[in-house]
Amino acid sequence: MKALCWNGTDDLRVERVPDPVLVNPHDVIVKVALSSVCGSDLHLIDGYVPTMRPGDIIGHEFLGEIVEKGPEVRYLNRGDRVITVSIIGCGHCGHCQHGESSLCDNSNPNPDYARTAYGHCGAGIFGYSHAFGGYAGSHADYIRVPYADFNAFRVPEGVSDEKAVFVSDAVPTGYMAADMAGIKPGDMVAVWGCGGVGQMAIRSAYLLGAERVIGIDRFPDRLRAAQMKVGAETLDYSRVDVFDALQAMTGGRGPDVCIDAVGMEADSASNAVEDLYDRAKQAVGLQTDRPAVLRQMIESCRKGGTLSIVGVYGGVIDKFPMGAAMNKGLTFRMGQQNGQRYAGRLFEHIRNGDLDPSYLMTHRLPLDDGPQAYRMFKEKADDCMRVVFAPQG
Ligand SMILES: [Zn+2]
Ligand SMILES: [Zn+2]
Repeated sequence: MKALCWNGTDDLRVERVPDPVLVNPHDVIVKVALSSVCGSDLHLIDGYVPTMRPGDIIGHEFLGEIVEKGPEVRYLNRGDRVITVSIIGCGHCGHCQHGESSLCDNSNPNPDYARTAYGHCGAGIFGYSHAFGGYAGSHADYIRVPYADFNAFRVPEGVSDEKAVFVSDAVPTGYMAADMAGIKPGDMVAVWGCGGVGQMAIRSAYLLGAERVIGIDRFPDRLRAAQMKVGAETLDYSRVDVFDALQAMTGGRGPDVCIDAVGMEADSASNAVEDLYDRAKQAVGLQTDRPAVLRQMIESCRKGGTLSIVGVYGGVIDKFPMGAAMNKGLTFRMGQQNGQRYAGRLFEHIRNGDLDPSYLMTHRLPLDDGPQAYRMFKEKADDCMRVVFAPQG
């Protein structure tokens, strides 16, 4: 089959690879109809995620048809149209049973990397390095889905492929950011990053009762989408001081909830010295992640407020303002998404018209265009929010 493979920093190639096969009786094979790029793929392409190997297939947000199933798969059938949650759970361990499937004890067959780096090992992720399980990704004609009954969800009648595909990753990640922040009616929420996940976090914050949501970015098309599609007020961090603007908008109090939908490759155009410092330290390996957004959230958040982090971090950061966080009594919530607990609720929101993620798909392209498509996505050229590949045409 055809697949989009990682071959090194900034080196993606479309290659011929063997078709996936059933490995475990709980597996299914999905014929991929749509497979989306995601901001966290850029950390792979930019070389910030160790344990990638040449030839690894990337991609983790996808929709398709089940074409083969293992003998122990009970709830799914050949011909079902499904989405699959990008973070893999086993469905049986304590974490999976308690709605924290991204902390699954069993779905990562290579636990030693994470145990060494993090102390404990979390779930496997499709197409996201050998440290996260070495699972082949979805930018391919076919993909193997392990523990299929737990991870794959039949798309309800009346929900189009274009809406459903994002229930794999962008929608539950944004929804979880809002959900774990404990948003209460009347809250004011600020969201850093207006890419796909940030857009969905904004919509989800409103669904959970927020009164005002402010989206922060510097790309005009993303700020416009945040206003027009999900009703946010917006701040362009390249033009205003984010701290000052947020205080002015909240009578000097600061937002109740601050959401990080950016992660480890944050820019800080508003503070050139800090940005240079972070980039220099990252370049020589003295810090692995750039924490500009985290610092700004800690400074801006109201006293006693909550920071909710779904942008991906991988390693260590420098100059973390622990004193501010402690003395302001901030609560930190964070994690990879637990989409298995949200998929049913999110499909319901889509069906009744509360939520329509289809506008995230600004480009639909064949898999052959993969390398150029990622370049466009990385450079945010042509107002690209997300490219979705359609391997079957
Ligand atoms: Zn993702
Ligand atoms: Zn589990």
